[in-house]
Amino acid sequence: MSRGYSEQDVEHYDRPRRRGTRPRTKERPSFDDAVEGVVVTVDRGRFTLLVAGIQVWAVKARPLGRKGVVVGDRVRVVGDVSGVDGALARIVAVEPRATILRRTADDDDPIERVIVANATQLVVVTALADPEPRHGLIDRALVAAYDAGLSPLLCLTKADLADPETLLSTYRALGVPWVVTQRGGDLSALRERLTGHASVLLGHSGVGKSTLVNALVPDAHRETGVVNAVTGRGRHTSTSALMLALPDPGPDGETSWIIDTPGIRSFGLAHVEPEHLIEAFPDLDEMTEECPRGCTHAADEPECGLDEAVERGDADPERVASFRRLLDARSVSPY
Ligand code: ZN
Repeated sequence: MSRGYSEQDVEHYDRPRRRGTRPRTKERPSFDDAVEGVVVTVDRGRFTLLVAGIQVWAVKARPLGRKGVVVGDRVRVVGDVSGVDGALARIVAVEPRATILRRTADDDDPIERVIVANATQLVVVTALADPEPRHGLIDRALVAAYDAGLSPLLCLTKADLADPETLLSTYRALGVPWVVTQRGGDLSALRERLTGHASVLLGHSGVGKSTLVNALVPDAHRETGVVNAVTGRGRHTSTSALMLALPDPGPDGETSWIIDTPGIRSFGLAHVEPEHLIEAFPDLDEMTEECPRGCTHAADEPECGLDEAVERGDADPERVASFRRLLDARSVSPY
Protein backbone atom coordinates (compact mmCIF):
# COMPACT_ATOMS: atom_id res chain seq x y z
CA MET A 1 0.00 0.00 0.00
CA SER A 2 1.25 3.46 -0.77
CA ARG A 3 2.66 5.63 1.95
CA GLY A 4 0.33 8.07 3.59
CA TYR A 5 -2.82 6.30 2.60
CA SER A 6 -5.18 7.03 5.39
CA GLU A 7 -7.46 4.42 6.80
CA GLN A 8 -7.90 6.00 10.18
CA ASP A 9 -11.64 5.92 9.94
CA VAL A 10 -11.56 2.23 9.38
CA GLU A 11 -9.32 1.46 12.35
CA HIS A 12 -12.25 2.07 14.60
CA TYR A 13 -14.19 -0.80 13.12
CA ASP A 14 -11.28 -3.18 13.24
CA ARG A 15 -10.86 -2.99 16.96
CA PRO A 16 -12.47 -5.85 18.81
CA ARG A 17 -15.08 -4.68 21.25
CA ARG A 18 -13.51 -6.36 24.23
CA ARG A 19 -9.86 -6.88 23.63
CA GLY A 20 -8.42 -9.93 25.27
CA THR A 21 -11.63 -11.72 26.09
CA ARG A 22 -11.15 -14.21 23.30
CA PRO A 23 -8.00 -16.21 22.70
CA ARG A 24 -6.29 -15.10 19.49
CA THR A 25 -5.63 -17.86 17.06
CA LYS A 26 -2.32 -17.94 15.26
CA GLU A 27 -3.84 -19.48 12.18
CA ARG A 28 -5.88 -17.31 9.91
CA PRO A 29 -9.41 -18.52 9.37
CA SER A 30 -9.95 -19.99 5.93
CA PHE A 31 -13.20 -18.15 5.22
CA ASP A 32 -14.45 -21.02 3.11
CA ASP A 33 -17.93 -19.56 3.31
CA ALA A 34 -16.85 -16.19 1.93
CA VAL A 35 -18.75 -14.87 -1.09
CA GLU A 36 -17.63 -12.45 -3.79
CA GLY A 37 -18.67 -8.84 -3.95
CA VAL A 38 -17.65 -5.54 -5.51
CA VAL A 39 -17.23 -2.28 -3.58
CA VAL A 40 -19.51 0.47 -4.92
CA THR A 41 -19.10 3.18 -2.27
CA VAL A 42 -16.90 3.89 0.72
CA ASP A 43 -18.04 6.19 3.46
CA ARG A 44 -16.10 6.63 6.69
CA GLY A 45 -15.03 3.04 7.01
CA ARG A 46 -18.37 1.64 5.87
CA PHE A 47 -18.46 -0.10 2.53
CA THR A 48 -21.41 -0.64 0.27
CA LEU A 49 -21.01 -3.76 -1.85
CA LEU A 50 -22.96 -5.53 -4.51
CA VAL A 51 -23.10 -9.25 -3.77
CA ALA A 52 -24.96 -11.22 -6.43
CA GLY A 53 -26.86 -8.06 -7.35
CA ILE A 54 -27.90 -7.33 -3.76
CA GLN A 55 -26.70 -4.22 -1.95
CA VAL A 56 -24.84 -5.19 1.19
CA TRP A 57 -23.16 -3.09 3.87
CA ALA A 58 -19.84 -4.20 5.24
CA VAL A 59 -16.84 -3.27 7.34
CA LYS A 60 -13.28 -4.50 7.05
CA ALA A 61 -12.45 -7.61 9.00
CA ARG A 62 -9.53 -7.53 11.37
CA PRO A 63 -7.15 -9.68 9.29
CA LEU A 64 -7.08 -6.98 6.60
CA GLY A 65 -5.35 -4.64 9.03
CA ARG A 66 -4.48 -1.35 7.37
CA LYS A 67 -4.98 -2.62 3.85
CA GLY A 68 -7.05 -0.13 1.92
CA VAL A 69 -10.34 -1.06 0.34
CA VAL A 70 -11.59 1.26 -2.39
CA VAL A 71 -14.42 1.58 -4.87
CA GLY A 72 -14.06 -1.02 -7.60
CA ASP A 73 -12.29 -3.54 -5.41
CA ARG A 74 -13.34 -7.16 -5.82
CA VAL A 75 -13.63 -8.51 -2.32
CA ARG A 76 -14.60 -11.63 -0.40
CA VAL A 77 -17.08 -11.20 2.42
CA VAL A 78 -18.48 -13.23 5.30
CA GLY A 79 -21.36 -12.59 7.65
CA ASP A 80 -24.78 -11.22 6.92
CA VAL A 81 -25.09 -10.58 3.18
CA SER A 82 -28.89 -10.52 3.20
CA GLY A 83 -28.93 -6.79 2.53
CA VAL A 84 -31.73 -6.22 5.04
CA ASP A 85 -31.68 -3.12 7.24
CA GLY A 86 -29.00 -3.33 9.89
CA ALA A 87 -27.25 -6.32 8.35
CA LEU A 88 -23.49 -5.98 8.30
CA ALA A 89 -20.99 -8.20 6.52
CA ARG A 90 -17.22 -8.31 6.91
CA ILE A 91 -14.67 -7.97 4.12
CA VAL A 92 -12.04 -10.65 4.67
CA ALA A 93 -10.01 -10.43 1.46
CA VAL A 94 -9.31 -8.04 -1.42
CA GLU A 95 -8.53 -9.55 -4.82
CA PRO A 96 -5.44 -8.29 -6.65
CA ARG A 97 -6.21 -5.09 -8.56
CA ALA A 98 -5.98 -5.03 -12.34
CA THR A 99 -5.60 -1.24 -12.38
CA ILE A 100 -5.17 1.50 -9.79
CA LEU A 101 -6.21 5.10 -10.37
CA ARG A 102 -4.48 7.24 -7.78
CA ARG A 103 -3.72 10.82 -7.06
CA THR A 104 -0.78 12.34 -5.30
CA ALA A 105 -1.06 14.85 -2.52
CA ASP A 106 -2.14 18.31 -3.64
CA ASP A 107 -3.25 21.54 -2.03
CA ASP A 108 -6.78 20.35 -1.49
CA ASP A 109 -5.86 17.02 0.00
CA PRO A 110 -2.49 16.28 1.58
CA ILE A 111 -2.82 12.50 1.42
CA GLU A 112 -1.98 10.26 -1.52
CA ARG A 113 -5.03 8.21 -2.29
CA VAL A 114 -6.09 5.34 -4.41
CA ILE A 115 -9.32 6.60 -5.94
CA VAL A 116 -10.64 3.58 -7.83
CA ALA A 117 -9.51 0.02 -8.44
CA ASN A 118 -10.06 -2.12 -11.52
CA ALA A 119 -11.39 0.64 -13.78
CA THR A 120 -10.65 0.15 -17.47
CA GLN A 121 -11.58 3.54 -18.95
CA LEU A 122 -11.35 7.17 -17.87
CA VAL A 123 -13.98 9.44 -19.36
CA VAL A 124 -13.02 13.10 -19.26
CA VAL A 125 -16.30 14.99 -19.35
CA THR A 126 -15.79 18.50 -20.72
CA ALA A 127 -18.28 21.11 -21.85
CA LEU A 128 -17.54 22.70 -25.22
CA ALA A 129 -18.85 25.98 -23.80
CA ASP A 130 -20.40 27.33 -20.63
CA PRO A 131 -17.98 26.73 -18.96
CA GLU A 132 -15.17 26.99 -21.51
CA PRO A 133 -12.98 23.89 -21.79
CA ARG A 134 -9.81 24.00 -19.71
CA HIS A 135 -6.99 22.23 -21.51
CA GLY A 136 -4.86 22.01 -18.40
CA LEU A 137 -7.49 19.93 -16.65
CA ILE A 138 -8.05 17.69 -19.65
CA ASP A 139 -4.31 17.12 -20.05
CA ARG A 140 -3.95 16.20 -16.39
CA ALA A 141 -6.83 13.75 -16.54
CA LEU A 142 -5.26 12.16 -19.63
CA VAL A 143 -1.94 11.82 -17.84
CA ALA A 144 -3.71 10.07 -14.95
CA ALA A 145 -5.46 7.73 -17.39
CA TYR A 146 -2.34 6.81 -19.36
CA ASP A 147 -0.31 6.35 -16.19
CA ALA A 148 -2.91 4.05 -14.65
CA GLY A 149 -3.28 2.02 -17.85
CA LEU A 150 -6.87 3.16 -18.45
CA SER A 151 -8.19 3.90 -21.94
CA PRO A 152 -9.02 7.60 -22.16
CA LEU A 153 -12.23 8.92 -23.70
CA LEU A 154 -13.17 12.54 -24.24
CA CYS A 155 -16.86 13.14 -23.69
CA LEU A 156 -17.64 16.60 -25.03
CA THR A 157 -20.95 17.96 -23.78
CA LYS A 158 -23.08 20.91 -24.90
CA ALA A 159 -22.23 20.42 -28.56
CA ASP A 160 -25.29 22.57 -29.31
CA LEU A 161 -23.30 25.55 -27.98
CA ALA A 162 -19.95 25.20 -29.77
CA ASP A 163 -18.18 23.31 -32.54
CA PRO A 164 -16.06 20.48 -31.09
CA GLU A 165 -13.42 20.82 -33.83
CA THR A 166 -11.27 23.41 -32.02
CA LEU A 167 -10.90 21.22 -28.99
CA LEU A 168 -10.57 17.98 -30.91
CA SER A 169 -7.71 19.37 -33.00
CA THR A 170 -5.66 19.66 -29.79
CA TYR A 171 -6.03 15.96 -29.00
CA ARG A 172 -6.04 14.44 -32.47
CA ALA A 173 -2.29 13.80 -32.55
CA LEU A 174 -2.57 11.79 -29.34
CA GLY A 175 -5.29 9.63 -30.85
CA VAL A 176 -7.69 10.15 -27.95
CA PRO A 177 -11.13 8.75 -28.81
CA TRP A 178 -14.08 11.05 -28.31
CA VAL A 179 -17.86 11.29 -28.26
CA VAL A 180 -20.02 14.37 -28.46
CA THR A 181 -23.30 14.90 -26.61
CA GLN A 182 -25.74 17.73 -26.41
CA ARG A 183 -28.32 18.68 -23.88
CA GLY A 184 -31.32 16.41 -24.12
CA GLY A 185 -29.66 14.60 -27.02
CA ASP A 186 -29.07 10.99 -27.90
CA LEU A 187 -26.54 9.13 -25.75
CA SER A 188 -26.20 5.97 -27.82
CA ALA A 189 -22.65 6.77 -28.99
CA LEU A 190 -21.56 7.24 -25.39
CA ARG A 191 -23.40 4.11 -24.24
CA GLU A 192 -21.60 2.12 -26.91
CA ARG A 193 -18.24 3.40 -25.67
CA LEU A 194 -19.13 2.45 -22.09
CA THR A 195 -20.21 -1.09 -22.90
CA GLY A 196 -17.98 -3.73 -21.39
CA HIS A 197 -15.97 -1.16 -19.43
CA ALA A 198 -15.70 0.06 -15.88
CA SER A 199 -15.51 3.77 -16.69
CA VAL A 200 -14.48 6.50 -14.30
CA LEU A 201 -16.29 9.75 -15.15
CA LEU A 202 -14.28 12.84 -14.32
CA GLY A 203 -15.43 16.41 -14.82
CA HIS A 204 -15.88 19.72 -13.14
CA SER A 205 -19.16 21.16 -11.98
CA GLY A 206 -21.26 22.64 -14.73
CA VAL A 207 -19.99 20.37 -17.49
CA GLY A 208 -23.06 18.16 -17.25
CA LYS A 209 -21.53 15.08 -15.66
CA SER A 210 -24.33 14.61 -13.13
CA THR A 211 -26.86 14.97 -15.90
CA LEU A 212 -25.08 12.24 -17.84
CA VAL A 213 -24.94 9.93 -14.82
CA ASN A 214 -28.65 10.39 -14.19
CA ALA A 215 -29.47 9.78 -17.83
CA LEU A 216 -27.31 6.65 -18.01
CA VAL A 217 -28.57 5.21 -14.72
CA PRO A 218 -32.05 6.65 -14.25
CA ASP A 219 -32.56 5.00 -10.86
CA ALA A 220 -29.09 5.88 -9.53
CA HIS A 221 -30.47 7.26 -6.29
CA ARG A 222 -32.80 4.40 -5.57
CA GLU A 223 -30.29 1.75 -6.51
CA THR A 224 -27.56 3.01 -4.23
CA GLY A 225 -29.81 3.99 -1.37
CA VAL A 226 -27.42 6.83 -0.80
CA VAL A 227 -28.93 10.24 -0.29
CA ASN A 228 -27.49 12.78 -2.70
CA ALA A 229 -24.59 10.51 -3.53
CA VAL A 230 -24.53 11.78 -7.09
CA THR A 231 -24.03 15.38 -6.08
CA GLY A 232 -21.76 14.49 -3.20
CA ARG A 233 -23.71 16.79 -0.94
CA GLY A 234 -25.47 16.10 2.30
CA ARG A 235 -24.68 13.34 4.71
CA HIS A 236 -22.25 11.53 2.49
CA THR A 237 -19.78 14.34 1.97
CA SER A 238 -16.80 12.01 2.22
CA THR A 239 -17.98 9.95 -0.73
CA SER A 240 -15.40 10.49 -3.41
CA ALA A 241 -16.46 7.78 -5.83
CA LEU A 242 -19.64 5.89 -6.54
CA MET A 243 -19.88 2.88 -8.82
CA LEU A 244 -23.12 2.21 -10.68
CA ALA A 245 -24.11 -0.65 -12.95
CA LEU A 246 -25.52 0.43 -16.30
CA PRO A 247 -29.02 -0.98 -16.80
CA ASP A 248 -28.26 -2.74 -20.09
CA PRO A 249 -25.81 -5.64 -20.09
CA GLY A 250 -23.25 -5.87 -22.87
CA PRO A 251 -23.50 -8.29 -25.82
CA ASP A 252 -22.00 -11.11 -23.75
CA GLY A 253 -24.22 -10.38 -20.78
CA GLU A 254 -21.41 -8.63 -18.92
CA THR A 255 -22.12 -5.72 -16.62
CA SER A 256 -20.85 -2.30 -17.64
CA TRP A 257 -20.08 0.12 -14.85
CA ILE A 258 -19.69 3.83 -14.46
CA ILE A 259 -17.84 5.31 -11.51
CA ASP A 260 -18.88 8.84 -10.68
CA THR A 261 -16.38 10.98 -8.82
CA PRO A 262 -18.38 13.79 -7.22
CA GLY A 263 -15.79 14.53 -4.55
CA ILE A 264 -12.79 14.77 -6.87
CA ARG A 265 -11.85 18.24 -8.04
CA SER A 266 -8.16 17.96 -8.62
CA PHE A 267 -5.51 15.47 -9.51
CA GLY A 268 -2.05 15.56 -7.98
CA LEU A 269 0.26 13.87 -10.49
CA ALA A 270 3.64 14.03 -8.77
CA HIS A 271 3.80 10.23 -8.72
CA VAL A 272 3.76 9.97 -12.52
CA GLU A 273 7.17 9.03 -13.99
CA PRO A 274 8.03 10.08 -17.59
CA GLU A 275 9.22 6.53 -18.29
CA HIS A 276 5.85 5.17 -17.31
CA LEU A 277 3.85 7.80 -19.18
CA ILE A 278 5.63 7.19 -22.46
CA GLU A 279 4.82 3.49 -22.28
CA ALA A 280 1.25 4.47 -23.13
CA PHE A 281 2.63 5.54 -26.54
CA PRO A 282 4.58 2.51 -27.80
CA ASP A 283 5.55 4.20 -31.08
CA LEU A 284 7.20 7.07 -29.19
CA ASP A 285 8.61 4.80 -26.52
CA GLU A 286 10.45 2.89 -29.22
CA MET A 287 12.22 6.07 -30.30
CA THR A 288 13.64 6.76 -26.85
CA GLU A 289 15.79 3.65 -26.65
CA GLU A 290 18.94 5.63 -27.48
CA CYS A 291 18.10 8.50 -25.10
CA PRO A 292 20.82 9.43 -22.60
CA ARG A 293 20.36 7.95 -19.14
CA GLY A 294 17.78 9.87 -17.15
CA CYS A 295 16.32 11.64 -20.19
CA THR A 296 12.82 12.87 -19.34
CA HIS A 297 12.01 13.30 -23.06
CA ALA A 298 10.99 16.89 -22.41
CA ALA A 299 11.60 19.59 -25.04
CA ASP A 300 14.68 20.94 -23.24
CA GLU A 301 16.50 17.60 -23.14
CA PRO A 302 19.65 18.00 -25.29
CA GLU A 303 19.81 14.59 -26.98
CA CYS A 304 16.32 13.16 -26.73
CA GLY A 305 15.53 10.41 -29.19
CA LEU A 306 12.17 12.02 -29.87
CA ASP A 307 13.88 15.07 -31.43
CA GLU A 308 16.11 12.85 -33.52
CA ALA A 309 13.07 10.87 -34.68
CA VAL A 310 11.32 14.09 -35.72
CA GLU A 311 14.43 15.25 -37.60
CA ARG A 312 14.64 11.93 -39.43
CA GLY A 313 10.97 12.21 -40.28
CA ASP A 314 10.12 9.07 -38.31
CA ALA A 315 7.89 10.79 -35.78
CA ASP A 316 4.96 13.15 -36.18
CA PRO A 317 6.12 16.46 -34.68
CA GLU A 318 2.61 17.21 -33.47
CA ARG A 319 2.40 13.89 -31.67
CA VAL A 320 5.75 14.49 -29.99
CA ALA A 321 4.69 18.02 -29.02
CA SER A 322 1.39 16.71 -27.62
CA PHE A 323 3.16 14.05 -25.60
CA ARG A 324 5.48 16.71 -24.20
CA ARG A 325 2.51 18.88 -23.30
CA LEU A 326 1.24 15.95 -21.20
CA LEU A 327 4.67 15.62 -19.59
CA ASP A 328 4.51 19.30 -18.63
CA ALA A 329 0.96 18.93 -17.35
CA ARG A 330 2.29 16.80 -14.51
CA SER A 331 3.88 19.80 -12.87
CA VAL A 332 1.90 22.78 -14.18
CA SER A 333 -0.97 23.86 -12.00
CA PRO A 334 -4.20 24.02 -14.00
CA TYR A 335 -5.41 26.96 -11.93
ZN1 ZN B 1 14.42 11.28 -24.36
